[in-house]
Amino acid sequence: MTTQSEAVIVESPVAVPNFVYRTAPQRIVFGAGTRQRIAEEARLAGIDRAMVISTPEQAGSVNELAELLGERCHLRFSGARMHTPVSITEEAVALAARHGIDGLVAVGGGSAIGLSKAIALRTDLVQIVLPTTYAGSEMTDIVGQTADGVKQTIRDAKILPEVVVYDVELTTTLPAVASVTSGANAIAHAIEGLYAENTNPLIGLMAEEGIRALAAALPVLARALDDRPARAEALYGAWLCGTVLGATSMALHHKLCHVLGGTFDLPHAEMHAVLLPHTIAYNGPAAPAAMHRVARALNTHDVPARLFDLVGDGGAPVSLRALGLPHEALERATELAFLNPYWNPRPLERHGIRALLDAAWHGRRPGSATP
Ligand code: NAD
Repeated sequence: MTTQSEAVIVESPVAVPNFVYRTAPQRIVFGAGTRQRIAEEARLAGIDRAMVISTPEQAGSVNELAELLGERCHLRFSGARMHTPVSITEEAVALAARHGIDGLVAVGGGSAIGLSKAIALRTDLVQIVLPTTYAGSEMTDIVGQTADGVKQTIRDAKILPEVVVYDVELTTTLPAVASVTSGANAIAHAIEGLYAENTNPLIGLMAEEGIRALAAALPVLARALDDRPARAEALYGAWLCGTVLGATSMALHHKLCHVLGGTFDLPHAEMHAVLLPHTIAYNGPAAPAAMHRVARALNTHDVPARLFDLVGDGGAPVSLRALGLPHEALERATELAFLNPYWNPRPLERHGIRALLDAAWHGRRPGSATP
């Protein structure tokens, strides 16, 4: 029986859609200083002769990990590059075979982790990865690799890293602008995951929380790179958004980024950050339930404008022009957006996509008429 002083909250039942969801078989270790336990993680993963991988810029982290791994480290390889060139993968695979490598340890962003995944695809070697950006590649069974200027995306169970060690301390050196653009990349995964054709209620929870965490942390990081609580919150958000990316199919935003990145060689994270407010302004009206959740996570009534400000206030570029794309390229980019049809909450209209790209090229704040 209910007394008068007890509030009775009656909520309308939420329509739960039918769904299919397969959880990823991964071990996640999260915290500050977690890289200190890398030798134990290698032992648990059955690695006795590791190859430690990074880009040239992060060779210092490879050296540190090699020391922490002790006798379990056998080889260091700091030749990873963005877009995972096949020639580098083949060189690393040959080295791994010659040295009897039995496991991979990759430290870095999507580029270092991409090389690890590409090697695992060919060798089925066990992988431990330590992400240092917010891109989320560690949580997916996808690798995009490039040969002869063409980027090909492959999905395979062998690609998914078995162990992910998130160490907040490894992210404190990520520069301010890279933190914001990489964070926008992660938020893009979560938003597209919310309105994805194959989304589900658990993924919805992760997406909303991931967006909230990153939107709270990024403005702090733009002012104080070494703010540990903000770094921890951003990396936590990145893990959630990466999980969403691994579990759902992406739509217009990612298609445009793929087209522009592959054809015009624009930088990955920056391009996501520039396009995001505009792709969401285009798709938003066709995905009201998802937008309601994004608005709640961002604490705003105007999602596209809030995303634009998050990027711009963080000091990151807000226009395709600033990324070096010539205006003439927009016509070709529009054409490419219609190749290989894919699911999107709003049908692709030529005029609308061209207008979206034009607004992104000028860096117009969504909703604003001024260039
Ligand atoms: P990145 O890995 O290319 O890193 C950019 C630069 O920043 C590199 O020079 C790197 O060494 C440096 N860096 C990274 N972390 C740092 C840190 N903490 N401190 C200082 N410097 C640091 O950038 P990214 O955006 O993480 O990855 C982009 C690549 O990942 C693209 O090729 C993209 O296609 C791929 N990606 C793939 C997936 C997937 O699921 N397959 C998902 C996201 C991104």
